[in-house]
Amino acid sequence: MDQTIHLCGHSAGGGTCGKPAVANFMWAWGERGACCAEHQTALNQLASNLKRNITFMALDGPTPPTIGRDERTRLQAEILVLREEAQEAKDRGLSLYKANAELAEQARLAAIRERELRAQVKDALAEKASAEEKAAEAAREAARCSFEMQKLHRLSTAANAGADDSRSRLAEAESKLELARVALEKTDKEKQALEAELAKLRPHK
Ligand SMILES: [Zn+2]
Repeated sequence: MDQTIHLCGHSAGGGTCGKPAVANFMWAWGERGACCAEHQTALNQLASNLKRNITFMALDGPTPPTIGRDERTRLQAEILVLREEAQEAKDRGLSLYKANAELAEQARLAAIRERELRAQVKDALAEKASAEEKAAEAAREAARCSFEMQKLHRLSTAANAGADDSRSRLAEAESKLELARVALEKTDKEKQALEAELAKLRPHK
């Protein structure tokens, strides 16, 4: 009877699992080991993924029969195939990794471009707001000018009316002056005539 305490030899976090083993296992290609309950499940899953056979045996059960020469040769060939498949999977992983890195770079550039565009939109909106403010200010200024012009127009009309009035009064005054001048002339003539009459009437010396 084997008295050795079997421990799980499964790789875990850089070392081996080391938990008490519950079963021995043997892969189709002859690799053997002991595993805990948790890793027995994991090995079953791996065997299913690889589509390869794994056999579990009781720890104290009979040792599985050793494999013959022909079987060993067949299994070694199978290992080579599996290694090739593993390498292919690794290559596929590498090209996927490269494609992923490329996509990440494109996403990074797109994000930068988006930030630039957002900044441009923000600038354009600020410019638009500023232009609208200037347009509103110009409209207010135009309204003020229009109001001032109306006021000036009214003042000008009033001034013209005043000027017209002054002109007509001046003309009236001028005509009165003329009448007065004519009247004065007439009076002057009458005076001279009267003086002449008086001179005739004076006794001669
Ligand atoms: Zn384990």
